[in-house]
Amino acid sequence: MTQTANPLRQFFRQPAIYLRLPSGGNYWPEKDIVMTPNKELPVLPMTAIDEITYRTPDALFNGQAVISVIQSCIPAIKNAWSAPSLDVNAILVAIRIASYGHNMGIGTTCPKCQNEDQYELDLRNILDQIASPDYSETISHGDLEIAFQPISYKNQNDTNQMQFEEQRMIRAIPGSDLTDEEKIAKLNAALKRITELTVEAMKFNIASIKTPQALVTEPEFIEEFLNNCDRNLFSKIRDRVIELRIASDLKPIAITCSNCSNKYEQSMNLDQASFFETAS
Ligand SMILES: [Zn+2]
Repeated sequence: MTQTANPLRQFFRQPAIYLRLPSGGNYWPEKDIVMTPNKELPVLPMTAIDEITYRTPDALFNGQAVISVIQSCIPAIKNAWSAPSLDVNAILVAIRIASYGHNMGIGTTCPKCQNEDQYELDLRNILDQIASPDYSETISHGDLEIAFQPISYKNQNDTNQMQFEEQRMIRAIPGSDLTDEEKIAKLNAALKRITELTVEAMKFNIASIKTPQALVTEPEFIEEFLNNCDRNLFSKIRDRVIELRIASDLKPIAITCSNCSNKYEQSMNLDQASFFETAS
């Protein structure tokens, strides 16, 4: 006799924790997330396949591994590429807690005495500290009013990859067979491209620019404006974008060296394979 419904289904992985997104579900395209009434999303532990996916270096580099694992563990998220950048850290921490528990050991080296320590972290505290920056504050400049929004994981990831490519090219220039003139030309072109990429990423952080006559939301118009506005306004916009990004970053961990009592800070990067190594 064949069964149509799998009797094993009730023994599949169950939600281990519930996550409240820093964005509260704002900035997500409606079709890409199914919000629960209480705004808490069930988070499932990773499967064996998720774990393998996350450890494949190439998949991790192009962002696809992160996306697959997010969509597997938080089924309410239908398209993780649309995740506003401020939610990504909270999502990854929640998946780590659901899969391996809330304790995480991190290796650290004291910059003063080179003493190596193992530091125990409670990821629930990290999760509690992640807050949404205030995107509602606009910049006024003459007749213009500029409003901001978080960049999506997709746009952030694309920009990071292209900048990485340019930086790799710059590193390869000194050892190439080119003449000095050609090397300088190539270096200048790469540096110009990195600046262009910075502007490209900035346009995604701008929700709109209001003039007395129009409300502009088209990214291509905003990019053209960024390339042609005065440098004072450009610096103001760039500083705000950086400020907003820092506010949504994870705070560095304060560590006191057990050997020499030196106090120092260590930053955390969740977007890498080591974050999902099996907890011992
Ligand atoms: Zn030390």
